[in-house]
Amino acid sequence: MNSLTQFQLSTGKILGLLFIATLLYGISEFVYLKFIKKVAKSKEYGTTFIAIIVLILVAVLVSQTYGRINTAIIGIWASKYSLFQTDLSWYWWIYGLVVYEFFYWIQHWLAHKVRLLWCIHSPHHAPESMNMFVGFNHSFLESIFYMPFFLGFFPAICGVRPEIIIVVNILDTVYGSFLHISDHVLKGRLKFIEKFLQTPIYHRIHHAQNVAYMDTNYTSITLLWDYVFKTFQPLKSSLPIQYGITRDVNTESFKDTHFGEFRLLWEDIKNAKTLKEKFQYIFMPPGWTSVGELQTASYLKQKLVDI
Ligand SMILES: [Zn+2]
Ligand SMILES: [Zn+2]
Repeated sequence: MNSLTQFQLSTGKILGLLFIATLLYGISEFVYLKFIKKVAKSKEYGTTFIAIIVLILVAVLVSQTYGRINTAIIGIWASKYSLFQTDLSWYWWIYGLVVYEFFYWIQHWLAHKVRLLWCIHSPHHAPESMNMFVGFNHSFLESIFYMPFFLGFFPAICGVRPEIIIVVNILDTVYGSFLHISDHVLKGRLKFIEKFLQTPIYHRIHHAQNVAYMDTNYTSITLLWDYVFKTFQPLKSSLPIQYGITRDVNTESFKDTHFGEFRLLWEDIKNAKTLKEKFQYIFMPPGWTSVGELQTASYLKQKLVDI
């Protein structure tokens, strides 16, 4: 076993322990929200629980069939094809974080701007409340078949060492979970930290269905690429966050939250009059239509400005 594989296995154990710790916190948070605050939406929690079970089962099935597919393994494999060689000097760690976050921003932006990818990403946005379990509520398609390529393959091709990819990925996973902490537990602002780091408040804005908040705050650790691509959005004191997605969704149904967007896309593809329109429904942003008024986030935002 080479040292890289050993490193990956030992960091995998750390990630496993952190996952269990986060899970235990999530359960305590649920108990607090349910029995003390009396605000927990139990059936929404149930949907998330099914999503986690499906995610784990698919991961086991895929690993039995093809071998394990995750960011670390894809990163180690792709590092053989790096465009240039780097090492573990401190400045390459900074480079690694910047590159990893760049591809994180790209994949997250695409997940919101390409309708087919939105079908895969939208289950994460469906819940109408915020709690630690929302952080785990990802489609199995996103976590297993999609993110490893953006977060492992592309950074490795850009010369980021696999060790750096693995550590940043752990940081991203843990910090990304923290971003979903309940607003009943952590209400306050995080002072100077929020000038350069993503925070739960910013991520709550990302989960909002209010038009002014749509498609903002994509990053998961620092705010760098949200600043660069002008997608950073602070909280407006006059606009409370309304969690969820804009379609009429039953958040208590696993089938509707995870496959409802696919069903609607399929309807649109079937009803499209030309082949070009069919492709447009698949690849244009959610809300694009060939009939009637557009409902895309950028169009709705422009309308807000014009009023
Ligand atoms: Zn998102
Ligand atoms: Zn989230």
